[in-house]
Amino acid sequence: MDSVFTVDVEDWYHILDIPSAPKMSEWASAAPHVEKDFIKLLDLISEKNVPVTCFFLGWIAERFPHLVKEAAARGHEIASHGYSHRLVYEMTEDEFYHDAVKSKNIIEDIAGRPVLGYRSAGFSITEDTPWYFENLIKAGYKYDSSVFPGPRGHGGLKSDRYGPYLVKGRAGNIIEFPITLAKFLSRRICFFGGGYLRLFPYPLIKSMGRRVLSEGRPVIFYVHPREVNPGHPRLEMNYKRRFKSYVNLKTTESKVSKILEDFRVITFERYIKKHKEMLEG
Ligand SMILES: [Zn+2]
Repeated sequence: MDSVFTVDVEDWYHILDIPSAPKMSEWASAAPHVEKDFIKLLDLISEKNVPVTCFFLGWIAERFPHLVKEAAARGHEIASHGYSHRLVYEMTEDEFYHDAVKSKNIIEDIAGRPVLGYRSAGFSITEDTPWYFENLIKAGYKYDSSVFPGPRGHGGLKSDRYGPYLVKGRAGNIIEFPITLAKFLSRRICFFGGGYLRLFPYPLIKSMGRRVLSEGRPVIFYVHPREVNPGHPRLEMNYKRRFKSYVNLKTTESKVSKILEDFRVITFERYIKKHKEMLEG
């Protein structure tokens, strides 16, 4: 059974919903770390010789096009994390559509090939954004990986679909790969990305991943470049957010290596090709 390893390519200050985070107009004057961190992460992945999916923030792709080219040259899939890293439920439908199109165009121009996939900032699809999929379809995306099917800080969408599914729209269809949750002590919990991946010990992550695979679902892993650099600058935030943003950063590197050894990892693009009938049936 295949799993998908994903990287949301953004910088250390792209943390959502905290007052100390710089505004978009200030991003250019914040010290960039993404180049060093992303190359470090790519090197770690190259050691295991597996392809992953890189969701580039359009703003980052525009400023650091060589990172897009480097990831593509190493055989990874290039996808979009939107342009401006805004929470979906804080945008109007029109703003969302234009942001999704803008990032797709910029990234495709640099990568020289079509961008099929989208991931929203902070998995921020909620009941308040019923227009979400229709606009992604209109923007030309073929799949999305943004639904967090449980309660969550920003967003979370009540849903009982935990594996990939087809969303039918007026102008076409799109495949959704929800963020992977595993049932643990009567709750459904994400063990496979961000703060969760750093918090839980690897043996638990591995056994929960095995459980998900045995249920016939792929495990969707996700990391950010900043997470492999424990020395990255910190933003001021309350205790709860600080814990979630910065806990166990030193463990990311070894966890990523172990995941890439223990799980059969491919890109979303390949996953869709391989499982087309199941996904579209
Ligand atoms: Zn992000």
